Amino acid sequence: MSLDFKIEKRLNNRLGRVGLITTPHGVIETPAFVTVGTKGTVKSLNPEQVKEAGAQVVLANTYHLYLQPGDESVKKMCGLGQMMNWSLPTMTDSGGFQVFSLGAAYKKGISKVLQITDPSLLIPERFDDSDAPRLAKIGQDGVSFTSHLDGSVHYITPEKSIQIQHNIGADIIFAFDECTSPNEDLKYQAEALERTHNWAKRSLEEHLKLEKEKKNQENSQALFGIVQGGRDEILRKKSAKFISEIEVDGKTFDGFGIGGSFAKEDMSTAVKWVNEILPAEKPRHLLGIGEPEDLFMGIENGVDLFDCVLPTRLGRNGTIYTKSGKIHIMNSEFRDDISPIEKDCPCYTCTHYSRSYICHLFRGKEMLAGTLASIHNIYFIVNLVKKIRQSILADNFEEFRDNFLKEYNK
Ligand SMILES: [Zn+2]
Repeated sequence: MSLDFKIEKRLNNRLGRVGLITTPHGVIETPAFVTVGTKGTVKSLNPEQVKEAGAQVVLANTYHLYLQPGDESVKKMCGLGQMMNWSLPTMTDSGGFQVFSLGAAYKKGISKVLQITDPSLLIPERFDDSDAPRLAKIGQDGVSFTSHLDGSVHYITPEKSIQIQHNIGADIIFAFDECTSPNEDLKYQAEALERTHNWAKRSLEEHLKLEKEKKNQENSQALFGIVQGGRDEILRKKSAKFISEIEVDGKTFDGFGIGGSFAKEDMSTAVKWVNEILPAEKPRHLLGIGEPEDLFMGIENGVDLFDCVLPTRLGRNGTIYTKSGKIHIMNSEFRDDISPIEKDCPCYTCTHYSRSYICHLFRGKEMLAGTLASIHNIYFIVNLVKKIRQSILADNFEEFRDNFLKEYNK
């Protein structure tokens, strides 16, 4: 058994729930925020610091590790967890979002969450790359990439993505998918969805084949299928149904990812459509999303796992989460502020350093600056999800949500 999921409590009349995911490397209390370690490291932190900040699980990026150091090399280092000296659960994404970043979204400023939907970003001629620099081409069978590192050309099929993820060896891995922009037209969304569904089945077949060849149960991995479908209700629901029903030799996916690049206003409806259909007894991961308001929305609508680069990416740029919203620590108002980032925050950064010192480190471009800011930001987000979990267990989710968001958005 590669993964076990138990629901401990449900949120009244809603999709939300509290649960436990058991993996070969330990238990994840859900809902949980998954800390991102793209290249097999949470940037600027050692694993002890990541653990101390409360992280239960780290997600690395298949595409980046495949290119460098190479998945065979990760395998020789005894897999992702051993390589990075992280003994707790690990995950890898499928590389599908990178296909999107290097293809349709390449140098067009499209990210995981779109604030405004701009029709000029729409790319009608997907297979004609003559007018824009694009590093990925999507075909029916897979995707050809040009490496952003050295210009070498690679071809990734669903089977190849699963083989790579088996070499990397994370506890939870994802089916290969195509992440589309919400700006794509319905015809393209439907075509991409067909491909994602076909690739999902092939991913599961390859995964089961590789699992059968394993002798050691300790190395057993769980595979999550990914639901796509853009902003269209019919396609999203169709995808949720299709992905949850895919069966190979009597086996189905161990859990589900909800993928896509979202327009902010669409996110909660898309999540709700999907989670009303996905089987309740399996975990669900909202891919690449993790701002505080999105966490409440997702959890209320039945999401168990989130991941997002923002706590560390923002931290490295000096943007820090607080209960009263984000602050930019380099601002002059913090130069002589000897209070901690947050007075009642028990994290390493807040218990040892002042705003004034962290402001100085950022202004001086010291490496410790990013480390201290990332520690607090990870603590803040990871623990926000833990507090939401506790609020569901204590039957005061709504009160906690309303109080938190009122203070955060003030
Ligand atoms: Zn703190």
